[in-house]
Amino acid sequence: MVGLAARHLQNLRRRDFVAGAALIDGRWIAGEQRDVVVDPATGEEIADVARCGAADMNLAIAAAERSFAAWRELLPARRGAILKSWASSMLDHSEELATLVTIEQGKPLAEARHEIAYGAGFLDWFAAEGERAYGETIPSHKSGSILQVRMQPIGVAAAITPWNFPVAMITRKAGAALAAGCPIIVKPAPETPLSALAVARLAEEAGIPRGVFQVVVGNPMELSTPLLRDTRVRALSFTGSTEVGRLLLKGAADTVKKVSLELGGHAPFIIFDDVDLEKAVKGAMAAKFATSGQDCLAANRIYVQRGIYDAFVEAFAAAIVQLKVGHGLEPATEIGPMTKVSVANKCRTQIDDAVKKGARLVSAQQGASLGPNFVPPTLLNEVTDDMLIAREETFGPVAAVLPFDSEEEVIARANANEMGLAGYVYTDSLRRALRLSEQIECGMVGINTASFTGPPIPFGGWKQSGLGREGSRHGLAEYMELKYVCFGDLVA
Ligand code: NAD
Repeated sequence: MVGLAARHLQNLRRRDFVAGAALIDGRWIAGEQRDVVVDPATGEEIADVARCGAADMNLAIAAAERSFAAWRELLPARRGAILKSWASSMLDHSEELATLVTIEQGKPLAEARHEIAYGAGFLDWFAAEGERAYGETIPSHKSGSILQVRMQPIGVAAAITPWNFPVAMITRKAGAALAAGCPIIVKPAPETPLSALAVARLAEEAGIPRGVFQVVVGNPMELSTPLLRDTRVRALSFTGSTEVGRLLLKGAADTVKKVSLELGGHAPFIIFDDVDLEKAVKGAMAAKFATSGQDCLAANRIYVQRGIYDAFVEAFAAAIVQLKVGHGLEPATEIGPMTKVSVANKCRTQIDDAVKKGARLVSAQQGASLGPNFVPPTLLNEVTDDMLIAREETFGPVAAVLPFDSEEEVIARANANEMGLAGYVYTDSLRRALRLSEQIECGMVGINTASFTGPPIPFGGWKQSGLGREGSRHGLAEYMELKYVCFGDLVA
């Protein structure tokens, strides 16, 4: 397996995609200091990228501020045309971008290709939505006056993005900010800078003006400090762990920025015994093992009603042992390595804890010998609410299955958690589906489906899973301010 990533990189059509230079104020900055990028499957060093510092970030903030007036003044349709051109260029370069995602993130190439299409979709969608940033006219409460509400771009925005969707989490934020008329500075995760910088090359080629879209790579703390402190940065969008989200929210308080946070999940996946078993297994497989489990929407607690519990576990286990583990560049691979060894270690800790407390382990042990970042797809049966895996997000290919008896009981157990991003319900009863969709405490609910995300939906969580929304018209509003204007004294 060693050398596979390097060989693919050598064959990349666009050599500039791996130059590892940051995009600041319209210039490509290679920097004096460099950080190494590794293939998480093998630990092999595959490239190096600029290590920008606080001074570079300050330059980026100043450039963004300078670019704001002209970008805001462009007609929304013109901004939209540039975004559309960027999206189509991403699709034209899908193979190169997907290869970079797989090499630095680890996910199977088919999933990486899907991410590129998903990511380009946000640019296309916001290109059109920017033209619909309608305000309101309010029936007046004062005689002789007209009351108007406008939506105006907030100013310079910053995005701190994660490594699990290294392209789509950039375009979901940048598409909205740019369509709204705001320049945006992106700080990608240090594990996945190559795909971010490649996407920045295409942004520049699509005609996004100097300073309007910038990507600054380097140490997270060093780069986020100027973003938090600078009053010129008006909005901050973050996707990642709840711990870091809390830190950023605190850091943004001094300058009272508009903050949107997409944090961890701990999704309940609830299966009632009136469902078609095959559909439930298919749904659970998709909701648990997409992105090798490194997905904030991942089904983390699979509650199965007692009547079909044994049959479900048997069918689910049979499907899990079929999963092919390997390097993401190998065509048959369905489960790749964890991007960070800390994520793999967290999976192992949760498995040990569950087994110690009485859970039964079903695992193919596939991939166990491939390296420290690999976690064999695992089923933990008879999980109880006191186990770590039932209490905190896993972010890996470990499925926890828990039996339940009644609807009231499972709702209470699903809600007894500080996370509230997504939830899934499988049932044949419409009434029950309606009740559950109303009572589950989370921002997004899938009924009889494991697939519901995309540009038109408001993506985001309740409770400690986040603040604000991405995608949809609500996502655009995260980068806009309301302005109320009262035209008085109109009586002639
Ligand atoms: P993280 O929160 O540390 O990393 C996410 C982003 O935050 C990266 O860009 C990182 O460079 C940046 N970051 C980290 N520390 C920072 C700091 N002090 N100041 C500013 N930026 C900082 O996440 P992680 O440690 O890589 O992963 C840990 C867990 O986070 C995962 O196991 C998972 O539970 C969760 N996570 C969730 C998502 C999601 O999609 N919601 C994505 C990634 C990770």
